Amino acid sequence: MLRRAGPSLRHFLLERNSSAGHSSRSREAKMSRPVQARRLEGIDKNIWVEFVKLAATYSKGHPPLVKVLAQFFEKLLGRDLDPMTNVMVTVGAYQALFCCFQALVDEGDEVIIIEPFFDCYEPMVKMAGGTPVFVPLRPNPPKDGKLMSSADWQLDPAELASKFSERTKAIVLNSPNNPLGKVFSHGELGLIAELCVKHDVLCISDEVYEWLVYDGKQHTRIASLQGMWDRTVIIGSAGKTFSATGWKVGWAVGPDRLLQHLRTVHQNSVYHCATIAQEAVAQGFQRELMLYGKPESYFVQLPKELQQKRDWLVQSLDGVGMKPIIPEGTYFLVADISPFKSDVPDVPSSDEPYDSRFAKWMVKNKGLAAIPLSAFYSEAHKSNYTNFIRFCFAKEEATLKAASDILQKWKQEKTSS
Ligand code: PMP
Repeated sequence: MLRRAGPSLRHFLLERNSSAGHSSRSREAKMSRPVQARRLEGIDKNIWVEFVKLAATYSKGHPPLVKVLAQFFEKLLGRDLDPMTNVMVTVGAYQALFCCFQALVDEGDEVIIIEPFFDCYEPMVKMAGGTPVFVPLRPNPPKDGKLMSSADWQLDPAELASKFSERTKAIVLNSPNNPLGKVFSHGELGLIAELCVKHDVLCISDEVYEWLVYDGKQHTRIASLQGMWDRTVIIGSAGKTFSATGWKVGWAVGPDRLLQHLRTVHQNSVYHCATIAQEAVAQGFQRELMLYGKPESYFVQLPKELQQKRDWLVQSLDGVGMKPIIPEGTYFLVADISPFKSDVPDVPSSDEPYDSRFAKWMVKNKGLAAIPLSAFYSEAHKSNYTNFIRFCFAKEEATLKAASDILQKWKQEKTSS
């Protein structure tokens, strides 16, 4: 993966950082109010940025990762992108999220978060002085007795609309969603987009699982819907895209009028991402660009491999009496554990929720690990969702084989008791 030594990362990060400017802000502004948090006032200049930009004038080079990300997303979004102003590389998607909240959310702003949600959104909104406003995906079990799918968890359109007000600054969208594996449909995204445009609201679109979509479903990018490019930051992760979590490379893609403020936070926090990991990710994307849509493409192969693992886990959990919710995407699977209440009796003196007690019981008694779903809900709503746990099926063969043996044994015990 590391055949070619790239130009200095510092070089290109700095060059990109330096392109933030007030003239472009006013020219491109579409929203009626400033998008950036007041905390950024006066800190958008940086001595390193200024001087490295000067040096860069005499030693030009094309930073491979931002360039290939721009090329790739041009293809996906069907619009021209400038690698220097529409792409920002971060230390994992985590840092891209942090930069979004710090740059765009001000004291007193409300941010809509769809429950269940990746747990860092809530503290990150609060750390930026914002107020999270939660809206749940509500399960609608199929009437025919079939297993539920993540598509059966839906937003109530009226409830969603009621959360938007003049205080709303942004909505966080995570599709495919961690923990449910829900892939928001074109129609659902259209509804969110309409509300964002109507209320002049930004969209922080966490799409780290964009390539992990099953059953021939398509991932729709909300930024490609009418009126959304100018108000959306797309967040991605090489950790998920190339199954390389430890590399900690992520990115934000979006309009310069938003990204210029993310760059201000980036240059005053982490500032620099490991060059070697970025170079490796760049090479991965260059290969994927060449093989786009072909059977040899990793982005084509990975979901096929994971779909098989998903199907195996669905079957095995069903076999022991859990009710798995078939995920349309991601490598997570949520299962309903309500049939096991007699195995894990109530502890009267404890207020620990059932899902948490069940997950502990399962790891101790069966040797299988999972996360209680209530961990993905706000404090106020946790108690409504204590009958589910989340498994992860992105594991190597040996681990899956061990899990398979455990589940087989569990099934035999159930049938013989
Ligand atoms: N967003 C979601 C929805 C995630 O599940 C994760 C990782 N679990 C991240 C962001 C963070 O990604 P990274 O490892 O690239 O920081």
